[in-house]
Amino acid sequence: MIHIARPIIRNSSIEYPVTFGDMKYRFKINVETQARSQALSQPLNTNIDGIVCMLTPIAILNNMEIHSDEPIDVHLYNNLMELPAVYKKYHYRHTLMSHISVDDIALRLRMPMCERPPATGPSVTPISMGVDSLYTILKKSADVDTAVHIRGLDGHMDHVAETNLKYASTVLNKPIQYITTNIKRLMGKLPLKGTNYGVFTGDGIFVAAVYPLAPRNIIFNGFGCENNFPCLSGQHHAINRHFKGGEFVSENVDIARVKKIKYLIENKPRLLNVLKVCTMQTDMRMITYTTDSDGSYYEAVVNCSECGKCDKTLLYIWMLGFYKDAITFSRNKSDFLSHFENKYVSNIEYKKKRLLANRFYDMIVDQVIALYKKNGGNLHNVEEFSFLYGPTGDNVTLQPLSPLQPLPPLQPLPTLQPLPPLQPLPPLPRS
Ligand SMILES: [Zn+2]
Repeated sequence: MIHIARPIIRNSSIEYPVTFGDMKYRFKINVETQARSQALSQPLNTNIDGIVCMLTPIAILNNMEIHSDEPIDVHLYNNLMELPAVYKKYHYRHTLMSHISVDDIALRLRMPMCERPPATGPSVTPISMGVDSLYTILKKSADVDTAVHIRGLDGHMDHVAETNLKYASTVLNKPIQYITTNIKRLMGKLPLKGTNYGVFTGDGIFVAAVYPLAPRNIIFNGFGCENNFPCLSGQHHAINRHFKGGEFVSENVDIARVKKIKYLIENKPRLLNVLKVCTMQTDMRMITYTTDSDGSYYEAVVNCSECGKCDKTLLYIWMLGFYKDAITFSRNKSDFLSHFENKYVSNIEYKKKRLLANRFYDMIVDQVIALYKKNGGNLHNVEEFSFLYGPTGDNVTLQPLSPLQPLPPLQPLPTLQPLPPLQPLPPLPRS
């Protein structure tokens, strides 16, 4: 059983005591007050609805009930109750769900319910300086009040990252609200299934982290693989569309990564000055402090330019014709397409080791490359292109982790012994 106790409030921090069986955890969220955001013009929302969203996958995947004496919004409850069907639908594909049988997938929320009025806080979306978040802020600019940067979720923050975040905030014309949390770190330590950030808990953690701001709208940004991606992820439309209720609504503007990059470069090319997609630590000795009309930033190679994420981003930038402007990457290749194809596409050993979701990501890249070649070396019509994950996405299935063992042969049932012959009943006594 998972139990959520009453949250504890200290100034601009909230602490949620949660027990999982006999393990106790304290999830902490601190809303930083020095930011120039308007998000703090009202008291923090101290209800448990955000934490319930975050814990839902853990509860479903471990067949645990969530208990609390604190209420949640009835509309959120009804939406969360749709989630078991989603996990059941994708169950057969995921080895990460193989510990639970499809029939045991259920959600049991044991807490009072109430009807919450719509929140009056900001419309929020994350900012991490990667493609997904920058695209969403730009694309949904009219709807986003505040971009939220969550320390403890999106990599290490140093003076370069902080300066470049401020620059992006000016280019995008959006204030940034900083939040610090230990949620992702603690969730990663839980000795329970379903804590995989990328596959199960990504957007749930974001909801929990921004919930104290009393957001009236949460805009998710997806992993750049389109809403119909046939495999679960922590930022999947099929999951996060259920994170909404009477208090807050949500939406997800996910489209393929190449389309996001194209939109960013065409509308705000200066974002390439600070784009950071890589999670590796990079050599920061060669940095230049630069100023333009949007402000100052550190010109630095903040992307390792060797990992799969960097390679894929660079390939798209290269095919879109902006390789020379990708100054946050090291650009020492002349034909990035050949480099990419040799390293990944024609590398059979590499392809064999790919996990299910990665194989679907690869299908998208293969189709972008095919489109680029068909167009004679450009991607002018990639926005209209729709990606196919095999004929229906069903031609890719997981191999079982280990071959099934044959059952032992059935033993014959013991032969029935004949019953002893019936004895005649004694005569009835005379009355
Ligand atoms: Zn990298």
